[in-house]
Amino acid sequence: MNKMDETQALLRSLNLSWCKDNLDMVLNSTQDSEISYLDFLNHLLKGEMVFRQDKAQERRMKMAGFPFIKTVEDFDFGFQRSITRKQVNQLLDMTWIEKAYNLIFLGPPGVGKTHLAVALGLEAVKKGYKVSFTGVEDLMKHLKLETTSTRSRQKVKRIMASDMVVINEIGFVPISRQEANLFFQLISAFYEQTALIITSNKGFEDWAELMGDPVITTAILDRIAHHSEIFNLTGDSYRLKHRDKLLRP
Ligand code: ADP
Ligand code: MG
Repeated sequence: MNKMDETQALLRSLNLSWCKDNLDMVLNSTQDSEISYLDFLNHLLKGEMVFRQDKAQERRMKMAGFPFIKTVEDFDFGFQRSITRKQVNQLLDMTWIEKAYNLIFLGPPGVGKTHLAVALGLEAVKKGYKVSFTGVEDLMKHLKLETTSTRSRQKVKRIMASDMVVINEIGFVPISRQEANLFFQLISAFYEQTALIITSNKGFEDWAELMGDPVITTAILDRIAHHSEIFNLTGDSYRLKHRDKLLRP
């Protein structure tokens, strides 16, 4: 085995796959420069580090399960005036995730609740946080099937291991008593541990009817709202205002 093969085999055994794959390239690119041994090593290891960080971010991104990709830059704060760019910028420092605070976006369909949840989730992923995005129907399904389905158990496990969880669209479908109980257990586990973004087209006053149990609803809301920022988004639906028409006049 020549020195090159041997060195690559060593790098592989040490799980330094980027170094192994790029040793040739880095050697070539540094050959003619007066680079020190230390600089060379530094260069090689930094390559490995960046590669690993990128891969980890890609993985977190995939695991997050966003329904679409929309950023803060894509959000028109001129159209939606109930929240300001400055407020969102403050949220981007992620202290709310560190403190396990909850953000609640309330308002009618199309005002940008899910867009903001995705945009903030995306930034959190970029900053290294584990994020899970889940629609409330899916969430209930997985909570109910947790004991019988491996897939659901994995989903719930992943959600529980997240730093921030988006629970999207509470309010479109009624929640049964069993579901409300499971939801309460989940919210209790998250309380002061995991940050949440909750979006809902229903105000808190309508949640009791939605869940069919005022006692459990109060207990849920109590925990969600204790450390939280509530954004009441108002105005017209962005979808309707920016409707793509098939036929041109
Ligand atoms: P909601 O969750 O409140 O029903 P969404 O966030 O899903 O609404 O928004 C519906 C669509 O309109 C999405 O494609 C979203 O990107 C877009 N949208 C909503 N509000 C804005 C906004 N202020 N600026 C840019 N796009 C917006
Ligand atoms: Mg939505």
